[in-house]
Amino acid sequence: MTDREILQLQITACELRELILRALFNAKSGHPGGSLSIVEALTYLYKYEIRIDDPDSPDRDRLVLSKGHAVPALYAVLAMKGLMPISQLDTLRRIDSPLQGHPKLGSVPGIEMSTGSLGQGISVACGMALGAKIRGQKLRVYAVLGDGELQEGQVWEAIHFASHYSLNNLCLMVDWNNLQIDGYVDDVMNLRKMDDRFRANGFRTIVIDGHDFIELQAACSMFHQTKDRPTAVIMKTIKGKGVSYMEDAVEWHGKAPNEEEYKQAILELDRQIRQLRRMNQEGTDVGGTQTGGMALGMMDLSDSKWDSMVLDSFARNSLAQRAAAEREMEQKALDDARQKEARIARERMMKINDTETAGGDGE
Ligand SMILES: [Mg+2]
Repeated sequence: MTDREILQLQITACELRELILRALFNAKSGHPGGSLSIVEALTYLYKYEIRIDDPDSPDRDRLVLSKGHAVPALYAVLAMKGLMPISQLDTLRRIDSPLQGHPKLGSVPGIEMSTGSLGQGISVACGMALGAKIRGQKLRVYAVLGDGELQEGQVWEAIHFASHYSLNNLCLMVDWNNLQIDGYVDDVMNLRKMDDRFRANGFRTIVIDGHDFIELQAACSMFHQTKDRPTAVIMKTIKGKGVSYMEDAVEWHGKAPNEEEYKQAILELDRQIRQLRRMNQEGTDVGGTQTGGMALGMMDLSDSKWDSMVLDSFARNSLAQRAAAEREMEQKALDDARQKEARIARERMMKINDTETAGGDGE
């Protein structure tokens, strides 16, 4: 990845955080902490890894969000990817919306499984991976897990299963933010030396900074190269990443910001975006290569739809403009439907009048 590509991804991550927080603020409930900690991972996966151009293709890659409560992050990335309207994010958690507080299978393209009951998503991902191998499909399956989720016994049954069947098409992405609903993971139930435990269970195990796009790229490259076993990527992250008062703060596991908190969060993220744009203009070295990622032999830049969206992000408010345009179209469709309904009602009324008149004439 070049410096420019990395900076673009970082800007996109900030914009996604803004979308997530706006959705939660509108919904007045939801889970910001664990959503914000997986933004870079999902951004990277959906830009470079997951082949889902045709969301109905049986050969598409799958991502199962086993830590289902972080679904606002997935909704926002799917919207950025163009798989649903960005304006739909404003319907989060409404009773008539497909965007419920936890993923529902088939609600929108890219939601591959209903999850939220922790430990179950990884089991489904294992089944998808084994099924693909039996059918001879080349697809890859990713499961995103929380660290607190690893306390569930079912997770370990799935890990044994993945190892036993050498599911080299399965990549577990563990969001290691060391916080769960009740406090620090180390205090609630210490998981100790998790990387060693994955290794002992037959996984290729890679520990990375989950907010660093270069490390995410390297981990995915290693996953591709691993032919004899499943892969676990342990991503060290910060819960609530990107918003100062939410970072590493357990109280932001599951509540929405109020108006004042929301405004502060957006101010902070806007500031980060401005700084990243400045760095991009100045050509700041952020550790990228000038080879477009080819040094790692894994980059696929063919996703032109996403590329154009990332480039759009340099024009501030482009997402807001897109959302406004979508709302305008929805309003127009609604107005058209209402006009049509009114016309039909008028015509019916005229027909009734005609009938009455005809009847009156006959008397
Ligand atoms: Mg956690």
